[in-house]
Amino acid sequence: MDPQHDHYSDDDDKPREECGVVGIYGDPDASRLCYLALHALQHRGQEGAGMVTVHNKVLKSITGIGLVSDVFNESKLDQLPGDMAIGHVRYSTAAGSSSILKNVQPFVANSKFGSFGVAHNGNFVNYQLVRAELEEKGSIFSTTSDTEVVLHLIAKSKARSFVLRVLEACERLQGAYSMVFVTEDGKLVAARDPFGFRPLVMGRRSNGSIVFASETCALDLVEATYEREVHPGEVVLVDDTTKEIQSMYLLRPHPPKPKSCIFEHIYFAQPNSIVFGRSVYESRYAFGEILATEAPVEDCDVVIAVPYSGVVAALGYAAKAGVPYQQGLIRSHYVGRTFIEPSQKIRDFGVKLKLSPVKAVLEGKKVVVVDDSIVRGTTSSKIVRMLKEAGAKEVHMRIASPPIIGSCYYGIDTPRTQELISNRMNVEEIRKFIGAHSLAFLPSDSFRKLLGSDYNNFCYACFTGKYPLNPTAPMEESIDDK
Ligand code: AMP
Repeated sequence: MDPQHDHYSDDDDKPREECGVVGIYGDPDASRLCYLALHALQHRGQEGAGMVTVHNKVLKSITGIGLVSDVFNESKLDQLPGDMAIGHVRYSTAAGSSSILKNVQPFVANSKFGSFGVAHNGNFVNYQLVRAELEEKGSIFSTTSDTEVVLHLIAKSKARSFVLRVLEACERLQGAYSMVFVTEDGKLVAARDPFGFRPLVMGRRSNGSIVFASETCALDLVEATYEREVHPGEVVLVDDTTKEIQSMYLLRPHPPKPKSCIFEHIYFAQPNSIVFGRSVYESRYAFGEILATEAPVEDCDVVIAVPYSGVVAALGYAAKAGVPYQQGLIRSHYVGRTFIEPSQKIRDFGVKLKLSPVKAVLEGKKVVVVDDSIVRGTTSSKIVRMLKEAGAKEVHMRIASPPIIGSCYYGIDTPRTQELISNRMNVEEIRKFIGAHSLAFLPSDSFRKLLGSDYNNFCYACFTGKYPLNPTAPMEESIDDK
């Protein structure tokens, strides 16, 4: 587990496609820059990391299980020469099964028109259908990842150039994808699905090299200036012929309305990133301010956060409420990879290992505690108990998102719908369950207020249960089109 993000690890039959991708074009330091950019995206996945570079028409690939720093070192990076690279970080889990390594991206394929590699963030909702069709025609799959279908679709395509083959594959696939490709003949292609569910941005370094990444925090680290998003439905080609980017668009002239994932702003992205053209920090701060206005706590003494995902919203809450923000919970930086349970069971061991209450902040106080979301409700109940045990007189929980009632099909790992506490209980029942004095969620109309004319360009399926793209139905039958 990563110090910032706790990932669910016990839903073994669910696709786990929370990921980060990077693409570097035209830089002699491509592998090192890619490594750094992957570091900046580590919060998007900790199960595995990988990179593919292209040198003298040969693709070199290194993938491994664990954190970016576990997989790569100086000598590994020396084995990845070339001035173009793609990289990937993948979802974290405590399990260490051998099948995991096979699923670590980027994937590489050798086809009749040469080798190419792909790194994908998202989840194809029609993957099973496409895979079954391909298998029917004799394709053999070696992973359980939905991304493998892209390789087959591209390899089978009769289109005359690589980018047209990518376009053809994308038009066959539905769901969430932000992807980067490299080819042995020196092309880099970036593609984002027409709904733009997952983020993908583009920047340039001062030497002219081009960088693609899931979030701008990766551009910042490699000193690339953020230029723009890869637009929903856009397929971008960079190659030697022009050294400039060329754009093509999917589903033109009738693209669907974008449906960018609001949960990136709530939990998933780093607060220092610009995601879908907006500052994540500003969104979270505003969510906290709205909570303070809509769900105030009379005479509270202190506002604290569940670190780190609740920090920015807690700052917004405290500023708006005019109450001091304090560090009532300290997060260990070193929890990392400890999965050893004490033989004598300590109650709430997992949470205690990560979070420690500060008695000096909490004792005898009426405390407002802000977190980003409640999913199953287990974390919140443990935190409330911990704060009370540390001496808090009252614990008022404020959640900087509406109740989560729907599982995500577009690349955020949420448990099955039945396991979502807000699906089974109303707010008062959840309050009792977690043992808080009061509980309030972000009102769902806050998004409309905050996003204004941009409101309709986001996906809120986890809060509404209304899916812009049905996981089994073809694109034409999506809710949008109905
Ligand atoms: P729970 O105990 O299931 O209610 O966990 C809620 C906590 O998990 C929240 O405080 C979030 O910080 C975190 N969280 C929310 N969504 C996710 C996700 N998709 N993956 C991992 N952690 C999450």
